[in-house]
Amino acid sequence: MKKDLSLFEMPVYPHASLARMINFINEAVLVFSPAGHIEMINVLASTLLGGSRVELLGDDIAEFFYHANDSLKQQLVAHATSDKESATAISVQPREVALRRKDGGKVLVDLSISPIEVQEGPEDILYFCVLHDLTIHKAEHNELHRKATTDQLTGLANRHYFTEELQRLWQLSIRESVPLSLVLIDVDHFKHVNDTFGHVAGDKCLKRIGETIQLSLPHRDAIAARYGGEEFALILPHCNTHTAHLLAMRIQRHIAQLRFQELTLQIEPLITVSAGVVTQKGNVYKSASSLIEAADSLLYKAKEAGRNQICL
Ligand code: GH3
Ligand code: MG
Ligand code: MG
Repeated sequence: MKKDLSLFEMPVYPHASLARMINFINEAVLVFSPAGHIEMINVLASTLLGGSRVELLGDDIAEFFYHANDSLKQQLVAHATSDKESATAISVQPREVALRRKDGGKVLVDLSISPIEVQEGPEDILYFCVLHDLTIHKAEHNELHRKATTDQLTGLANRHYFTEELQRLWQLSIRESVPLSLVLIDVDHFKHVNDTFGHVAGDKCLKRIGETIQLSLPHRDAIAARYGGEEFALILPHCNTHTAHLLAMRIQRHIAQLRFQELTLQIEPLITVSAGVVTQKGNVYKSASSLIEAADSLLYKAKEAGRNQICL
């Protein structure tokens, strides 16, 4: 009667059956020796590592780790050089690891290692290593993350991301006693733009305004978000009121200079904005939301004062 080769009851493996088995498994699998040398590898694993099976056989598994300081790599190297009698077998639950392909490219995998006893050959133990490619999973994850944090129309951060980041940067500013500025910007009379030129043209305007704001940002730490319909918000870490005011003026000027010929909008100045600027310094505000409230009332003040202006 044929022996059932279920993975759960295979304590002792002759080499030939093991080699046959890994070729039928629908996952990238390789087998390596306690010294770390690849002894067997299936086509899925060689494709994943970017080499032919012949080329990869004998290679050191530790050499494929992308990060030199990866703790698993260090564990494998230590194991390879340790005294055979005293070494404990390595067993690793699936974990995310970055590997370097033969062509130098990086591939993220879930990697697991299981020790298996063998009867033939010079070793009495070999390591069965499964590599599950995370490339597609990662791409999907990144795309979902992008959608969850980005405003679809303008490509700026959305309100959800803005709120989370403000909270985080607020705490950082308190902890490190550094200033944090917030600018709220609202497009003036935007209802009029929509009413006159239509909602589609209005959308194009908002998109251009978003691009203009993004391009005006001083450094990578600054965050621009679409806070609401025609309202934008900037978080400016390490930025005092003076610098935040200069930036708000620059944005105000750039937006007033926008021309929308392609939209056949001919009035000038086409679009103006009002803004409120506040800075957290020396614990003036008790919470991130009180900072928003303060910026909002300054924005309201700018509107009351006739629009196209900035209140500090
Ligand atoms: P104010 O100077 O007081 O801010 O006047 P306003 O007209 O800009 O303010 P109001 O709040 O009355 O109107 C905002 C307008 O913004 C109305 C709304 O249709 C428009 N709006 C909000 N979101 C969008 C959007 O995604 N696309 C377009 N096209 N318009 C939008
Ligand atoms: Mg408005
Ligand atoms: Mg508004």
